[in-house]
Order: sequence, then structure tokens, then C-alpha cells
Amino acid sequence: MVCQVFPHKCCRVFGVLVVKVCPRCGLEYSYIERRVIGGRAYLYAVHVSKVREGSRSKRKVRKCYLGPEDSYEYVSMMHEREGIRLRGLVREDRALEYFDTLLNYVVSEDLNRELALKLISKLKEVVKVLEEKYLRG
Ligand SMILES: [Zn+2]
Repeated sequence: MVCQVFPHKCCRVFGVLVVKVCPRCGLEYSYIERRVIGGRAYLYAVHVSKVREGSRSKRKVRKCYLGPEDSYEYVSMMHEREGIRLRGLVREDRALEYFDTLLNYVVSEDLNRELALKLISKLKEVVKVLEEKYLRG
């Protein structure tokens, strides 16, 4: 299942985890490299691109250090772009807070039209489900 609201980003709001945007530089990365040093795992976002050099094209690799796998810094960094801090999956008492965060994100960022339309349809779906479940019961 791919997140409909942030399809290319890490999103736990809707219970899915899709990561493609590097939290360090904001560009899409190719894969995450995991290196174990002294029993601790460190993560790097690896950006692979092709660079033309005359008639040949060369593979260029750039890595962004993300921090230790188990660190709070790394985990919260992955959610920084939407301002969503990792709290696990949606829980009753947190649902409202997620919407406040989302509202804040929508107000402060310039969204592209495609994302805005997806958000509108997703929010309508939420309203519809809530009304059906609690207002017409
Ligand atoms: Zn990066």
C-alpha cells in the first residue's frame, strides 16, 4: 500500500512507511546504505546519478549521512519535512494532533496542484467515513 497523501515521502500518519526523499538534502535517493561499525548500525542515503563526460556517462555516487539507525535524531529527521514526529501508528488520542500538524503544513507550504487535489479527496473521504459512522448511526 502506498500512501496517497505523501506518496514519495516517509509517512506513518496513515500507517504506511514509504521513504524516498533524503531528509538531509531533500533530493530523491536511490537506496539506504546500512553500515555496522562496532555493533551499531549507521545509515546513509545514497544518491546515484549519471554524469556525462564527453561521450561516456559515468556513475556518480553521493552519500548523505543520516545518523545511527536507532537514534531519535534520525527518526525525527525522516519526518521533519511534514513536521510529523514519529509517534507510532495513529492512536485515538493522537488523531487530532496529526490533523493539526497537517493543517499547519498545508498553510505554510506551497503545494503543487496534484498534491492539493489528493489531499482534498483524502480529507473528504475522512469526513465521509466519520459522518457515516457517527452521525447516521
Ligand atoms: Zn541527500
